[in-house]
This record gives sequence, C-alpha cells and structure tokens, in this order.
Amino acid sequence: MIHIKSPKEIEEFKVAGALSKTVLRRAGRMVRPGVTTREIDQMVESFIRLHGAVPGFKGLYGFPASICASVNEEIVHGIPSDRMLVEGDIISIDTGATTGGWVGDNAWTFFVGEVAPETKALCEVTLDCLKAAIEQAVPGNHIGDIGHAVQTLAEKNGFGVVREYVGHGVGRAMHEDPNVPNFGKKGRGVRLQAGMVIAIEPMICQGTYRNHTLANGWTVVTNDGKPAAHYENTVAVTKDGPVIITQDTDGPWCPLEGGV
Ligand code: MG
Repeated sequence: MIHIKSPKEIEEFKVAGALSKTVLRRAGRMVRPGVTTREIDQMVESFIRLHGAVPGFKGLYGFPASICASVNEEIVHGIPSDRMLVEGDIISIDTGATTGGWVGDNAWTFFVGEVAPETKALCEVTLDCLKAAIEQAVPGNHIGDIGHAVQTLAEKNGFGVVREYVGHGVGRAMHEDPNVPNFGKKGRGVRLQAGMVIAIEPMICQGTYRNHTLANGWTVVTNDGKPAAHYENTVAVTKDGPVIITQDTDGPWCPLEGGV
C-alpha cells in the first residue's frame, strides 16, 4: 500500500531529511586513509542520538550498525568494522535518521584520497543517474520512467545496473511501497502522484551487475570484484515537481571527495 503524504507532512518530513543529510555530510568529512568504518559508524550514531533522533538502520531486519559502509566491490549493506580505509578506495555510506515519526534515507559514495580515473567516472555517472532519476519524479510519470532514466545512462557508459536491490517508498517506515527499480521501461509501473515520497538510489557497477552476499548475511559484493557506486536521496513527488527531502542548509549533495 502506498502512503500519500500531505503537504504539511512533507514539511515535517524535512526535519528527518535534513538530519540524515547533515550526518552523511559529516561522515564524508571523516573519510580518509587510516579511518575505520567502525569509527564513522560510531560518530554517526552519536550525532543522530545527540539530536534526539534514532538511527534508521540499527536493528532494522537485524542490521547491526547505524550506517551501511560498503567499500570498493561491496555494493550495499557493508557492515562497519575495524577495516581501515586506504588511499584509492571508494566508500558508500548509507545513513538514515528517524525523528518526528519520519525516516530520512540517503547515501553517498566518497573517494578516499586519489582514486583511479575509471572509478571516478563510475561515481560521476552514478551521481548523474540519481539526478536524471529525480527529474522523472513528477506526477503523471511512472516508476518505470525513473528506472529507465538510470538504466539508459548507466548502460550508455558501459556500466552494470544492479537488479536485486532497489529504491523504495519511505515515510513513517524505512521501506514502504512502491519499489523503485533502477531499470525499467518508460510508462510502466505505478503512476506517480503528488504526495508520494520515494528513496531513489542507483547502485551501479563498473563491470558486471551480478553479485552475491558474503557469509555475514549482509554485505553484497560484485561477482567480478570490480567497484560499485551508490547515491541516494529521499524525494517527494509534488505538484511543483520533485522536492529533495534529504537536504540541509548546504543542499542535497555532498562533495565526492572524502574529508571535505
Ligand atoms: Mg534506501
């Protein structure tokens, strides 16, 4: 069932969205060689709780941490650990915060120092996929228009689009209907209407989109070991066009470079 949010509810939702973006931005500033993903997770959890909010991922379906931290070939759902980031890595950080009864959800892939040009290109194209997808989030369009925008741009650049993990409706719960795949056909799927709020999150692979889950039951990695990127915003469909819920006073985007 799709929950339609009133304009007033969308305004309230922005508080959770702003906190989710602020903490993601702060996580990005910690990204540098030598930092562990656990240290980033601990900062994020403290920051969210200090603001009277609750980490959206901790305990969700049993996930053990407040962020998903997915490094290099890890696509999504990486578990924070004592793994130290090293120069040339990329790290996708997914943060969610629940406050005022609303769940913000957003993710960003950051560079650890200087990364390979082809890895940079993967990240830039994936971010462009997110932007192209958001443009499609207008009343009267269909879910398939969003997926089509992502898939077209990614495949034009020779990259693989993950099939098994998708965006989703978001609101009082982290995962609501409808699913928002990153592939699809124009004009297909659920028709978008004002008041729908969706997390749009392209997960794009430099090589094959085929993947598997590690023995920890969470971390999803590419089968060919090549890197993957993941950018996400929570977006409201409104009569005035897409409104990005996950933005703070610095806007909805983070720098690609970590440590900034
Ligand atoms: Mg999400």
